[in-house]
Amino acid sequence: MKTPSYLQIDADVTLLSAFKTPARARYFFDMRDHDDYEKLREIALWARENTLPMVMLGAGTNCLFAFDVFEGVIIRNRNTGWEEPFEQGGRVLLAVHSGSLSNTVAEKLYTHYRIPTLVPWIGLPGTFGGATIGNAGCFGVEMSDIFVSTEVLDLETGEVHVWEPRDMHYAYRESALKGNARYFVLSTIIDISPRGGEYETYTLENFRSIRRVKQPTGISCGSFFTNTFPTEEQKTSLSEFLTPMGTLSSGRLIDHAGLKWTRVGWVKVSEQHGNFFINDQKWTWQDVLELRDRVKKEIFEKYRVELHEEVRIITN
Ligand SMILES: Cc1cc2nc3c(=O)[nH]c(=O)nc-3n(C[C@H](O)[C@H](O)[C@H](O)COP(=O)(O)OP(=O)(O)OC[C@H]3O[C@@H](n4cnc5c(N)ncnc54)[C@H](O)[C@@H]3O)c2cc1C
Repeated sequence: MKTPSYLQIDADVTLLSAFKTPARARYFFDMRDHDDYEKLREIALWARENTLPMVMLGAGTNCLFAFDVFEGVIIRNRNTGWEEPFEQGGRVLLAVHSGSLSNTVAEKLYTHYRIPTLVPWIGLPGTFGGATIGNAGCFGVEMSDIFVSTEVLDLETGEVHVWEPRDMHYAYRESALKGNARYFVLSTIIDISPRGGEYETYTLENFRSIRRVKQPTGISCGSFFTNTFPTEEQKTSLSEFLTPMGTLSSGRLIDHAGLKWTRVGWVKVSEQHGNFFINDQKWTWQDVLELRDRVKKEIFEKYRVELHEEVRIITN
């Protein structure tokens, strides 16, 4: 099979990850709408024939490119759009294409339909595909709370399947689809029936300002590490770091360890939020990984807590 003509060769993909480390891809495909799914099938077939790895990207807000040139195919998903909300079995549902931005969906739901269920997601970066994969969420609403089903394209067989909650095995920032390069998320149906949480009375501006106050500005991928589930002993010995969810806050551990401001090259731990790594313009992926290693080592030595990356580190 010939190299598909619509693949860009040796593309600059620096701006496609929120970290913006300099990076190129041997092959790149910018997927814009439904009609491109057939091309995606062909690319997957061709990549398999040529034993080339494939990486799917949404907005890249949770990915670090840890390579100079990716020796495979990067697919960026910009297939946006959604259907009108509809009622089914007493619930109000919404079907969203995977390239739609979570923030845009949340804002439009509120401003067009006065539906406040997703208001907590105002300001949440990334696409619905990324949120479906990583069980993204904030302020009391995670994808797993509202998830009804998702349509996935099986890149090995070319078939489309519907995955329901029991297939997803959702856990904190985890799902059965995370790290599974075989499936591409096409669209997701969520339940937007009113949930009655305290945040539903907030305004758009409330949420924008919460993010402004709590989260550092600058180039970053949000929280670098997930929070950690403590052992029974740590629940007592590290109780000051427990979040309302019962996990150990990575940000607070990093802060308490005195690691804010720690710098490697052009990358530093944010002085505002210990779990954010901030780019001072010219960082390299090697700087990010060195800072990661340093923070992990110090936190383990001080608290015996092993930090795990929330950010997906993409390598060759
Ligand atoms: C400033 C900042 C603040 C953040 N705050 C939060 C927060 O409050 N809560 C939270 O949960 N997250 C937060 N994040 C992380 C990020 O916004 C979410 O994880 C988001 O859902 C990722 O979406 P994305 O489209 O950018 O995914 P990407 O980074 O593009 O991809 C993430 C993963 O999903 C896979 N993927 C993406 N789309 C598809 C698809 N269609 N099919 C198959 N696989 C796919 C990728 O291969 C990758 O493994 C923050 C990030 C930033 C930069």
